[in-house]
Amino acid sequence: DLAKLDLKSLVRTIPDYPKKGILFRDITTLIEHPEGFKESVERIANAHRGQGVTHVAGIEARGFIFGAGVAIAMGVGFIPIRKKGKLPGETIGQNYALEYGVDTIEIHADVLDDGDVVLLVDDLIATGGTAIAAVGLLRRTGATITHAAFVIDLPDLGGAAKLAAEGVEVTALIA
Ligand code: IMP
Repeated sequence: DLAKLDLKSLVRTIPDYPKKGILFRDITTLIEHPEGFKESVERIANAHRGQGVTHVAGIEARGFIFGAGVAIAMGVGFIPIRKKGKLPGETIGQNYALEYGVDTIEIHADVLDDGDVVLLVDDLIATGGTAIAAVGLLRRTGATITHAAFVIDLPDLGGAAKLAAEGVEVTALIA
């Protein structure tokens, strides 16, 4: 029974990756499970029907895996939010702080305009830094972003609350 599948049990936890003291939530075991992967995508899509979504945007790289499935399930197009230098056309970019240093994400400059409604998708929200940068970048096109969907939320790290303060409602399949 799909509705009863325990998605949490399909996520593997790997200690000390990428460095000592971090408990890494590994979704490769979830997506390798056919029903687990399908249900994850379908539940995200179902949670966001009727919101006027015109595009799903996924954050490189694990956001592509879930976001592409959600876009297909919702019958809308997919926008890759990529790391700097990967997109071939004219881009707009947004810097964001990492624990050590800074990173940049980009989208094509002409991909969205006002009137578009974007659902942001990623595998996991922790501090929310990545998602906040993505929302800021998407909004610079004039598009509306009111919802973001994650497979996993780590609520103690406060990312979902930060997004809510920016006017973005967060849904997550697993906390
Ligand atoms: P944040 O910017 O602190 O919210 O971190 C979220 C970003 O880092 C997302 O793009 C995630 O894919 C990635 N991330 C952080 N922690 C984990 C984890 O435990 N498992 C998988 N991805 C993670």
